[in-house]
Amino acid sequence: MSPAETDATRAGASAGQTEPGGRPGRMGPPETAAPVLAAGYDGVLLDLDGTVYRGDEPIEGAAEAIAGLRAARVPFLFLTNNSARTPEQVVEKLGDVGIEATAAEVLTSAQATGAMLRREGSGGETAFVVGEEGVIRALEDAGIRVLEGHPERVDLVVVGWDRSADYAKLRRATLLAARGARLVGTNPDPSYPAPDGPWPGAGALLALVRTASGVEPVVVGKPSRPMMEAAADRLGAARPLMVGDRLETDVAGAEAVGWDSALVLTGSSSLRDLVEAGGAPTYLLRDLRALVAPAIPAARLRAAESGDALAVGALLRARGLEPGRVASRLAGTVVAPGTPGGEAVSSGRGGTGSRGEPALLGTACVEDLGADGMLRSVAVDASVEGCGIGSLVVAGALRAARVRGVRRAFLFTDGAERFFTALGFSPVDPGGLPAPVRVAAEAAGCTHGATPMCRELAASAAPAG
Ligand SMILES: [Mg+2]
Repeated sequence: MSPAETDATRAGASAGQTEPGGRPGRMGPPETAAPVLAAGYDGVLLDLDGTVYRGDEPIEGAAEAIAGLRAARVPFLFLTNNSARTPEQVVEKLGDVGIEATAAEVLTSAQATGAMLRREGSGGETAFVVGEEGVIRALEDAGIRVLEGHPERVDLVVVGWDRSADYAKLRRATLLAARGARLVGTNPDPSYPAPDGPWPGAGALLALVRTASGVEPVVVGKPSRPMMEAAADRLGAARPLMVGDRLETDVAGAEAVGWDSALVLTGSSSLRDLVEAGGAPTYLLRDLRALVAPAIPAARLRAAESGDALAVGALLRARGLEPGRVASRLAGTVVAPGTPGGEAVSSGRGGTGSRGEPALLGTACVEDLGADGMLRSVAVDASVEGCGIGSLVVAGALRAARVRGVRRAFLFTDGAERFFTALGFSPVDPGGLPAPVRVAAEAAGCTHGATPMCRELAASAAPAG
């Protein structure tokens, strides 16, 4: 195999070992005194459904992880968009899956709604509620008077998840909003993932009232800022780590307020969703136990700069890849810096920072070939294999390519088919490759004995360029 052949092929193999979720053998209690991941934060916010339990079933390792957080004295809070339950009912549900907690350790979107309204001076106001006990209790705790029946006017219409909402109730909410009441939604979730399929969620009920009344609501739950702020307030944390299973709520909510986030692969979002997501988590975790295992490095991705060329080349070479013309491909290259500031490292040769950490944790590139692109030069530093960095840099490079207008990404691999399949790639017939892809691959010498794979990239909402 010529050096050039290794560029796109063994690149994948190195990344293929980076299964998310902490290194193999590192699960469970740390075997060394190394600080655990959660200890790097002044608090941890834990999503519930898909993170701690799934329906009525506990998620493996959740109870162990929560016990570990207590033992490490890391403050934490359970955070749920479900507004129907009171904190006491959430505690009961946690008890059913083997986790002891107190109501003070739970923040629901209904409570965050109450906290926001109280902060804004709504105490003493009147409200009409489409919602269950969780919402009514939270508003009353905030000093808001909840009116039942058929009030003619109220200050607020609050819409949460309500499994007994009927036409009369939704009509009243619509009339009151149209008459000038402020419309507030506890959370945006369009559906509730029930065992038999999706049920209409609070967001769907809110959409009905909004459509009928023409009134724009304020929405509180994740990913909205009021929910994140209420959680930080309750925890007394300035920079908590948000942990959850949904990119569009847990990860996006953390990103909106500038916090780090960890995506657990135990619920809604999967690795392939990383490519179409607007943002990216700081960590990929197999499950919650990684929070109380020795810390893995944060992946803070950014586009490569001209000063990164040497470090990218050094990393590729260290992983047995021929860097080729790295500088000419920087426009499509994403890096995960190993230095805390994430600045370009031009000292390059050794590829390590001042304290011995690698200059780059990982890198990936999508070379543009018109509407198609070729994923290549994928590598992670040997010291961080198994930390999910490979998945994050590949997804980051593909997201950036989407924004540039690339609609299909191709790659050639000779051993990392599984890794790339998890990210949404499928093998394709070598005979059917578009000419520019075939030509570029042959020029790089990476077609011999390798499996071509392809993935569609959905059009990006962000402007190209
Ligand atoms: Mg969830």
